[in-house]
Amino acid sequence: MSGKRGKLIVISGPSGCGKGTVIKKLAETTPFWLSVSDTTREIRAGETAGVNYNYLSNDEFMSKVNDGLMLEHASYSGRAGKITYYGTPKPPVLSRLEAGENVLLEIEVQGASQIKKALPEAVLIFIMPPSMEELEARLRGRGTEKPEDIKTRLETAKTEIALADSFDYTVVNDEVETCAERIKKIIEGDI
Ligand code: 5GP
Repeated sequence: MSGKRGKLIVISGPSGCGKGTVIKKLAETTPFWLSVSDTTREIRAGETAGVNYNYLSNDEFMSKVNDGLMLEHASYSGRAGKITYYGTPKPPVLSRLEAGENVLLEIEVQGASQIKKALPEAVLIFIMPPSMEELEARLRGRGTEKPEDIKTRLETAKTEIALADSFDYTVVNDEVETCAERIKKIIEGDI
């Protein structure tokens, strides 16, 4: 096939910054395939295996890494300090890009920089919360993490925000619609 390759868009930002909501809004106006990541964390209430994530054991995850089946992978603070792994399965992403589809990855910052190294044409977008206070309020309001895990996620957020400069674009999520609109323009190559 000699068609145009799809664009690889990577969206990162601290846990609770509203990435999920912004991506849903973006999907209303912009065509892309949202990659389904592998994770070793427990499934949350309201999530569906194969839709939100593929839920793997540590051994299953590591054997995929060793077999070269992950485009990137990273560890992230899990429940009660337990190390949790997240990774992007390689074959579906590469085949969709090859078929001309835009592919969107919603991953944390370590993974985003691995993607940029492996595929420099990837467009990295960092979603910035309006403030740390707002981020904390959103994490608490979501009610999916225990108080001690929220503390860890806020600490991680500070490290992540410090790396925002290494992204191609930073978009502040003060208003979901405006944020999604800016990302749409970035994808379309308008900015
Ligand atoms: P959560 O546990 O809240 O679903 O996700 C925690 C963090 O892991 C979020 O910042 C999310 O973007 C990130 N994440 C999800 N999937 C992947 C992945 O495949 N690779 C990497 N590096 N991070 C991921």
